[in-house]
Amino acid sequence: MPELPEAETIVRGLRPRIVGYTIRSVRVLYDDVLREPRHRFGARLRGALIQSVGRRGKNVIIDLDRNRKLLVNLGMTGRLLPITTKTVTSQSPTHPAIRFGLSSGGELVFDDTRRFGRVECLSSNDWLIRSQDMGPEPLDPLFTVNQFKKGLGASKSPIRSWLLDQRRIAGIGNIYANEALYLAKIHPKRRASTIRRTEAITLLKEIRQVLQEAIRAGGTTLRDYRTAEGEKGKYARRLCVYGRDGEDCTRSRCSGEIHRIVFGGRSAFYCANCQPTRGPAHVYRP
Ligand SMILES: [Zn+2]
Repeated sequence: MPELPEAETIVRGLRPRIVGYTIRSVRVLYDDVLREPRHRFGARLRGALIQSVGRRGKNVIIDLDRNRKLLVNLGMTGRLLPITTKTVTSQSPTHPAIRFGLSSGGELVFDDTRRFGRVECLSSNDWLIRSQDMGPEPLDPLFTVNQFKKGLGASKSPIRSWLLDQRRIAGIGNIYANEALYLAKIHPKRRASTIRRTEAITLLKEIRQVLQEAIRAGGTTLRDYRTAEGEKGKYARRLCVYGRDGEDCTRSRCSGEIHRIVFGGRSAFYCANCQPTRGPAHVYRP
């Protein structure tokens, strides 16, 4: 499932290919990715000038003229593919749901195998209201440890569930939540309110590090995710715990093994040695 680094990678790939062009045509092949009738959606978008492309949490936000925004949530298997006449086979859509014809002569295709993704056209005001319901951006330098600690302190949720809650913090999904908790030596089931200040400092640092390194690697491809260039993200090989249950802990002086547990309907991966359930008094120190 695309998370912040994958959405950011797609945004960076789309920018040079679609900004400055006008949406000439809208062809909806599957309207279950929309939240409004296809004719209304199409009518609102035809003629819109693409001014910029950005991201909020896991969402790709395409800014249009006349105070409109195209909001794309990639869901499980969504892709945004800019198609030009020079497009190579690896970028070809396999399950196109919406095809936007552009004034460049190319297309922007929303492709989604399982169609859990959502594409919406919102007014800038409606987007502002939606955005305010989302938590802060973890990479925003204005987001401080104090704010992070304050949010954690008020919650009895397991820390992994807290990190996945987009109203608490935006953009983190199960892969990077598990990786950051491992790097910060915090058990995924620890109650958020028990995380100490020193741990919160480390956790925020590791969240930022893991997200930035994943962006640099073009994201993580486990199955479906591709960059706007149609390539696989290269961060998968660097995952320390996610999907690695049964393997040895990667810390050189730890003899622990990666375990998998399921709670909140999602798998969590951790090293029982480095990430004790009870917190810092039991933390493994080589
Ligand atoms: Zn370990």
